[in-house]
Amino acid sequence: MALAEFNLIKQFFTRSAQNKCTRLSVGDDCALLAVPEGYELAITTDTMVENVHFFSDVRPEQLGYKLLAVNLSDLASMGAEPMAITLALTMPEVDSGWLAAFADGLFALADKYQIDLIGGDTSSGPLTLSIQAMGLVPKNQALKRAAARVGDLIYVTGYLGDAGLGLKIKQGYAGQNTQQALQRFNMPEPRVEEGLAIRSLANACIDISDGLAQDLGHILKCSKVGARLDYAQIPMSEAVLDYMLETGDWQMPLVAGDDYELCFTITPESASKLDISCTCIGIIEELPGLRLIRNDVCVNFNKSGFEHFA
Ligand code: ADP
Ligand code: MG
Repeated sequence: MALAEFNLIKQFFTRSAQNKCTRLSVGDDCALLAVPEGYELAITTDTMVENVHFFSDVRPEQLGYKLLAVNLSDLASMGAEPMAITLALTMPEVDSGWLAAFADGLFALADKYQIDLIGGDTSSGPLTLSIQAMGLVPKNQALKRAAARVGDLIYVTGYLGDAGLGLKIKQGYAGQNTQQALQRFNMPEPRVEEGLAIRSLANACIDISDGLAQDLGHILKCSKVGARLDYAQIPMSEAVLDYMLETGDWQMPLVAGDDYELCFTITPESASKLDISCTCIGIIEELPGLRLIRNDVCVNFNKSGFEHFA
């Protein structure tokens, strides 16, 4: 590693450890983490590539925040408590202003959950950012996609479609009330507390990164079940409702990605014990496939979206 790279790691990415599991952090060939007795390590990686996953004009603070948020969202969906991350940075040049802002955004979210940046890699090339996140989950308690059961209720946290609207705005849609949608697109809030709160209650869980229809579809496929959703129950913000009224694009909140809300299935009995803000949107059924009741008509989901029954 060149001295310049070494210095930039020291300057921007070396902090004192705050997580109880960190034994050795940045500076050696590997970092060392302690996994407490009775726990399993949950591990995930997400990469973001310029012009593929983000626009060139995004603010570096937002990029640092979102890169961590999307990884924490994966931990949340398994019911894992975040612990540590590694960071692989590939950049065309060393721009210390950019790096300082990127680190600010990243550590703002990391500090909220006492997450340590324990290592990484730095190289030159087209702007590509990867985080590997590690978390703890009590043995056999992780929320898996394959655990949905017939009769489970289907819930989502938060609102759907705001990030999708944010993307439409970036692509030129001129609506009112755009601030919240853009915020949700640029800086999604990983549902870490919610994931921990439902860990002992929910059956299956996934985070909504590619749209409800597709991500719930993963749960259905892995669990070998189907589902029926009630469109009227899907939680949407005023801005999304306005967008749909204006464009007629009623599917957007179901197929647009980047919301990073949790979608989980849970027995009605356990659902009565839920103590987080979330909305019941449907039920798991034996018949495979994803069905949606909208205006008293049942429509079926396939690859191109929702379609009326033939
Ligand atoms: P090695 O050659 O053994 O892979 P490096 O020279 O790449 O080590 O990195 C030196 C140290 O700096 C290692 O502890 C590594 O984990 C850490 N590191 C490198 N890049 C980053 C980064 N972007 N963020 C955090 N730590 C980093
Ligand atoms: Mg290296």
